[in-house]
Amino acid sequence: MELIDTHCHLNFNAYKDDIDQVVKRTLDAGMRVINVGSQSTTSQRAIDMAAQYPGKMFAAVALHPIHLHTMHVDEVEIPFTTREEEFDEKLYDKLAQKPGVVAIGECGLDYFRIPGDIDEAEYIKKQKDVFLKHVELAQRRSLPLILHCRSMKDDPERAYLEMLEVLQHANYSRGVVHCYGSTLNVAKKFLDVGFMISFTGIITFPNAKELVEVVKFVPLDRMMVETDAPYLAPQQFRGKRNEPLYVKYVAEKVAETKSVQLEDVARQTTENAEKFFGLQ
Ligand SMILES: [Zn+2]
Repeated sequence: MELIDTHCHLNFNAYKDDIDQVVKRTLDAGMRVINVGSQSTTSQRAIDMAAQYPGKMFAAVALHPIHLHTMHVDEVEIPFTTREEEFDEKLYDKLAQKPGVVAIGECGLDYFRIPGDIDEAEYIKKQKDVFLKHVELAQRRSLPLILHCRSMKDDPERAYLEMLEVLQHANYSRGVVHCYGSTLNVAKKFLDVGFMISFTGIITFPNAKELVEVVKFVPLDRMMVETDAPYLAPQQFRGKRNEPLYVKYVAEKVAETKSVQLEDVARQTTENAEKFFGLQ
């Protein structure tokens, strides 16, 4: 059984002390991974890792919306303070053409953590502008998008609908909504216009009932699985550092939810990822 972790961050500092062991475990299990950049440094590191493990590791490059402004991010596993970066179009265009780069991401909108020291409307406008530049970059370089989206707690749809607006305005639908976290209604809208949907260990959490309904609905040939490691470890390891091997638990939950065999989930999601990212 082969699985691809379509979204992880082995390029992050969380692995700096034992990256060789984590990589060894991952490759020994016959897995392939896509290391996703969140700013220029981590995008470059993802490219370096792809060069080190060709055909096994691939890279995605982008500036994540939370890095548009310095703020403290209180992730349960690894709290951190973001480093502010201006989007340098030329630099990312250069990175996008490096060997092993299979997507532009993660980019998108994040309304979950709007910093207190900046005007909300202004901040959202900046996010949309930078996001549109990523979409144009993906179009120019014929690459798919890895979309990050997080809405406000009291309005789980707004950021997603506004992200879809930007994408439709640019007329681009080659993308995957990573770590899906909105309603069934919104998932249907993304599926209708051709996007893929990807799930993390969140679907294994006991309170993820609504999300499990989304898993049930999304056809197996339109979904991918991922860990988002080091974050979002599945229930069995909740609160601990996540790693690519644990994508198995996400696939298991999909199989259980859809009443199909784990092997079928693995085969289909692997095929989806190969096709979507053009892996070879
Ligand atoms: Zn991520």
